[in-house]
Amino acid sequence: MSPTAAGAPPTSDVPDSPTPDQALALLKEGNARFAAAQSQPINESVGRRAEVATGQSPFATIVSCVDSRVPPELVFDHGLGDLFVVRSAGQVLDKAIVGSVEYGMDHLHVPLIVVAGHSACGAVTAAVEAAGSGGHAPGDIAYLVEEITPAVEAVKGQGGDTVSLAIAEQARSVARELSENTIIAKAIADGKVKVVSAVYDLNSGKVDFHS
Ligand SMILES: [Zn+2]
Repeated sequence: MSPTAAGAPPTSDVPDSPTPDQALALLKEGNARFAAAQSQPINESVGRRAEVATGQSPFATIVSCVDSRVPPELVFDHGLGDLFVVRSAGQVLDKAIVGSVEYGMDHLHVPLIVVAGHSACGAVTAAVEAAGSGGHAPGDIAYLVEEITPAVEAVKGQGGDTVSLAIAEQARSVARELSENTIIAKAIADGKVKVVSAVYDLNSGKVDFHS
C-alpha cells in the first residue's frame, strides 16, 4: 500500500490479489461493521485518491439494485477503488451489465461477483403486482418487469411473503445466469472467481449471503 497523507484514514484493508473467499470475508466484515454502526472512515482520503488514480484493483464486483437505500460502498464499508459496482433496478441483466461484469473479471481480475437484492425492492414488487393483475408497466419499465417475472413465477405456491421470496429468487437467478456465462463459467472452473447471491435487509443493515 502507498503512504497516505498525514492524519488520513487508513487505505484499503485489501490484500494484493485476494482469493474469492478472502474477498467474500472482506465484504462480510465490512457489512458487519456497517450493520453495527461501526463503519470505518471511508477510504476517500487524498492519499487513497492518489493511490487509485494510476490504476484500480477492486476486490469485488457488486451487481445490485439502483435503490437509493442500498449504496454498496456504504453497505459493505469500503471506499475508493475497492468495489466494482454495476446497478440496475432489480439487478436485471442486459448486455451492458453483463459486459461490465465480464470487463471487471477479465481486465481487472476481480475475484468475486456478488448479486445483491434487497428487502422491499420496488422493481420486484412491481413484477409481483403485474403478475397478479396482468397489467403492463409503461415504457422500458416493462423490460424490467419481464425480466423479473420468472423469479416471481418460480416462487408461486411456496407460501409466505411472495415479494420477499421473489427478491431472494431474483438474486439467485441472476447469480445463476452470470455463472453460466461462458467467460465467467471458465473463470469459476479455474478457481479464479466466485459468484454469490445475497439479500440486504433495509431495517437491520445486514446482508444475508446465500452461500
Ligand atoms: Zn430494488
